[in-house]
Amino acid sequence: MKKIMISPSRYVQAAGVLGDLPHHVAELGTKGLLVASGGGAGRAGIDDSTLVKGGFQGECTKAEITRLAALARETGCDVIVGLGGGKALDSAKAVAAEHRLPVIVVPTIASTDAPCSALAVIYTEDGAFEEYRFFPRNPDLVLVDCAVIARAPARFLVAGMGDALSTWFEARACSRSNADNTRGGKSTLAGLAIAELCYRTLIADGERALRSCEAGVVTPALENVIEANTLLSGLGFESSGLAAAHSVHNGLTRLPETHGALHGEKVAFGVLVQLVLENAPSAEFDEVIGFCRRVGLPTRLSQLGITDPAAGRLMAVAEGAVAPGESIHNLPFPVTAGEVLAAILVADRIGAAD
Ligand SMILES: [Zn+2]
Repeated sequence: MKKIMISPSRYVQAAGVLGDLPHHVAELGTKGLLVASGGGAGRAGIDDSTLVKGGFQGECTKAEITRLAALARETGCDVIVGLGGGKALDSAKAVAAEHRLPVIVVPTIASTDAPCSALAVIYTEDGAFEEYRFFPRNPDLVLVDCAVIARAPARFLVAGMGDALSTWFEARACSRSNADNTRGGKSTLAGLAIAELCYRTLIADGERALRSCEAGVVTPALENVIEANTLLSGLGFESSGLAAAHSVHNGLTRLPETHGALHGEKVAFGVLVQLVLENAPSAEFDEVIGFCRRVGLPTRLSQLGITDPAAGRLMAVAEGAVAPGESIHNLPFPVTAGEVLAAILVADRIGAAD
């Protein structure tokens, strides 16, 4: 059986580690192109005097990737540095892939598990989803400054916990069905163990990490959750696969009123739906929903902006979740739109109860 483990080459995490960025650029090349909004670089407080400033226009589009790739060539840059949120990081990965250059990824929030991955989400100029782009290599370095993340709005950290909450349950479903991961291989034992550790870390440290972020300070619990959101969840999803929670997320995006909710907030509700579909043990369901309530992740549709849960509109969500190619088909049993709709309604009812 072909097993594939997918990871970045190196992961470095500590408060204050951004100060080492020039050293890391020098390890990988001679001249770095910084892909970051002006505000992003300023908030992170990096010394970017040695970097070519590429700027970032806010959306990861084909045109923006082409612009930055041309700039890298014109200025002779041989290392790409992405700094900021998911879109700046994805753009940096795409530019690096165009020229087969090394890339350093510097997330300034811990809101998703994308930083370690070898994929990017490409959007149209209007901000609509266009395609996933898979790269041959994962980032050469993921550099995470806990002090920067501690100062970011706590909602981002919570959303990152929602994204990370799905990793173990989706990995476990893929393992039960022997489904392929994102590179067409089966999960290693390491991938599964990391996915489970991700979940256990959230349960143990999630609430304290949230309070730490609210206070703008770094604690061991916050460090653990930053690692869970970024490294453990990143390795877990890419190496062990996705299942229903992310498909429910994708279905939810069909309703415009959910667009104010962050990726991880929708994924967290998707976890509840997956557990209903799996008819998971009640102790497990209770642990998950209790965690969501403690850290403020949504447990009902109204918290995602869906105040009119007419069955017809939710059917569009369910149909989106079971569209061909969706990862929900990695569950170890077949699932229909009607079954997903039922699970959404039940999750919402349990979530609404005290
Ligand atoms: Zn995700």
